[in-house]
Amino acid sequence: MKTIERKKKRNTKQKAIVFQVVQDSHDHPTAETVYERAKRELPTISLGTVYRILKELVPEGKIREIIVNKQSRFDPKTEFHHHFICKKCGKIEDVKTPLCRYTCKKLEQKGYIIEEIEYKFYGLCDKCAAEN
Ligand SMILES: [Zn+2]
Ligand SMILES: [Zn+2]
Repeated sequence: MKTIERKKKRNTKQKAIVFQVVQDSHDHPTAETVYERAKRELPTISLGTVYRILKELVPEGKIREIIVNKQSRFDPKTEFHHHFICKKCGKIEDVKTPLCRYTCKKLEQKGYIIEEIEYKFYGLCDKCAAEN
């Protein structure tokens, strides 16, 4: 096999593993966490490669990127949903309740097209609230 073909094949495998790791993660992992998990499957993978693959998967619509505390987190759920973020333990939970029909309608009446909606709720999760 030619070097370039071998490289291409390796890239495909790396991409498939990174994608699978995000699919199996329900905690909205950071790139570093995805890297730690991908390494179990593919010990030779580098953080740089994981980062590059994640940045490819987002515009391809395969995963979503959300920014929490200025940090990228990755989400296997690609349909629009909102997030609750615990300020103490950092837990990120999906919020599925539809929230903003009124606001959307107002904007759409003006002729705007809404492509993306994401609310972030910051506070304390039940466990951290109980410790307070
Ligand atoms: Zn918490
Ligand atoms: Zn989510």
